[in-house]
Amino acid sequence: MLALMSDTLDFDIVIIGGGPAGGLASLALAARGFSCALVDAADPGVMRGAAFDGRTSAISYASARVFKRLGLWDAIAPDAEAIRDILVTDGRARSWLSDGAVSPFSLHFDSSELGPDQPLGWIVENRVIRDVLFDAIDASDNVTLMAPASRAATKFNPGEAIVDLADGRRLSAALVIAADGRRSALRAEAGIKTNDWSYGQAGIVATVAHEKPHDGVAHEFFLPSGPFAILPMTNYRSSLVWTERAEAAPAYMALDDDKFRIEIENRFGEHLGAVAPAGPRWSYPLAFTLAQSYVSPRLALIGDAAHAIHPIAGQGYNLGIKDIAALADVLTDGRDVGLDIGALTVLQNYQKWRRFDSAALALGCDSLVRLFSNDIGPLRLVRDIGMSAAGKFKPMREFFMRQAGADMGALPSLMAREG
Ligand SMILES: Cc1cc2nc3c(=O)[nH]c(=O)nc-3n(C[C@H](O)[C@H](O)[C@H](O)COP(=O)(O)OP(=O)(O)OC[C@H]3O[C@@H](n4cnc5c(N)ncnc54)[C@H](O)[C@@H]3O)c2cc1C
Repeated sequence: MLALMSDTLDFDIVIIGGGPAGGLASLALAARGFSCALVDAADPGVMRGAAFDGRTSAISYASARVFKRLGLWDAIAPDAEAIRDILVTDGRARSWLSDGAVSPFSLHFDSSELGPDQPLGWIVENRVIRDVLFDAIDASDNVTLMAPASRAATKFNPGEAIVDLADGRRLSAALVIAADGRRSALRAEAGIKTNDWSYGQAGIVATVAHEKPHDGVAHEFFLPSGPFAILPMTNYRSSLVWTERAEAAPAYMALDDDKFRIEIENRFGEHLGAVAPAGPRWSYPLAFTLAQSYVSPRLALIGDAAHAIHPIAGQGYNLGIKDIAALADVLTDGRDVGLDIGALTVLQNYQKWRRFDSAALALGCDSLVRLFSNDIGPLRLVRDIGMSAAGKFKPMREFFMRQAGADMGALPSLMAREG
């Protein structure tokens, strides 16, 4: 519980960043009985708005268990579209240079191979996730939301961490969680170095309405400029994540709706009938950032503050969800045996659990981007043969589906399989 002592507000945990990772972390930790302050520089009213974030997230089926166990899924489910199949194709966009031919080699992931009524995941609009998280945070006795409020300075003392907000409030806690995104200032102040590179690509995100049903099929076309994903949404809509060379993206962003529709059709094909843009477009610069450590005394990194990756496999937030579930177990176990939850010895259990696992997945996605974002003949041949072989081999398909479902390795209790 929050206690007011002199001018300092005391909590068990202060979380900096109320985005998808920080918001979910506050609820997971509150459910374990930790008092949490959740601080975000942005106004929650603005963050809940449709104009703030046009992305959708592919939520893996193991990540969905976390929302279910925290009692959040019932509010998300009406706006979540199940992914029944994923079709991956090596292709070329239609243009005056090319007839848009796709390779005869493609990969098909069919959810029925995982078991009856087990979707590969769900596509959910980020604005829905933010809404559900903020509603639950508002209703939680164990989370105090401080937003808009910026973190000004942080001291990591031997017995406690002190966080000063720009508005003059002072917070103290045993542990601070950095959920302040890819460019985490908290991570930098703690002296944690990163490995970073830019892909020279932008992710153009838009929603399109279409004539025919998508039947829960997600498509990923590997085009020379980068992957082009069509993700099934509710109500005859799909979300596009169109990776484009960074220098070409502004021109596509500036097109009027009619010209944009023609560009989409050139990439989309005709399988969904007539398509039309439904709403605004967003463009995100794509880069890789991996923290060299996820912990330091009284500090733990989660979400994009720990690892920001290319959206090629829709895994960024899913990695953050697994961080949160693992950290909740580590902190609960530490507290229950009387340990200081901010002590490095406790936090190192989180680092051991998550860093290798997430670094391996982050680098795997990075290799996919490099292998597929080009049109070099010999590379096309190698990847097409690889796709064809993987597609024919059931255990290999199952491995990829479980990997994409985040259903592998040591699962934290919030993600564990039922039964
Ligand atoms: C095009 C695209 C498509 C994607 N698709 C998928 C997908 O399908 N599936 C998937 O799993 N992932 C996907 N991702 C990745 C996913 O969107 C991110 O991993 C996720 O949004 C990261 O959330 P976060 O809370 O860690 O960081 P952020 O969303 O960056 O939130 C950080 C928060 O910290 C706050 N903050 C920063 N500094 C301060 C400060 N000093 N004081 C107070 N607050 C501060 C900010 O205001 C912000 O709200 C995609 C990413 C992109 C770019």
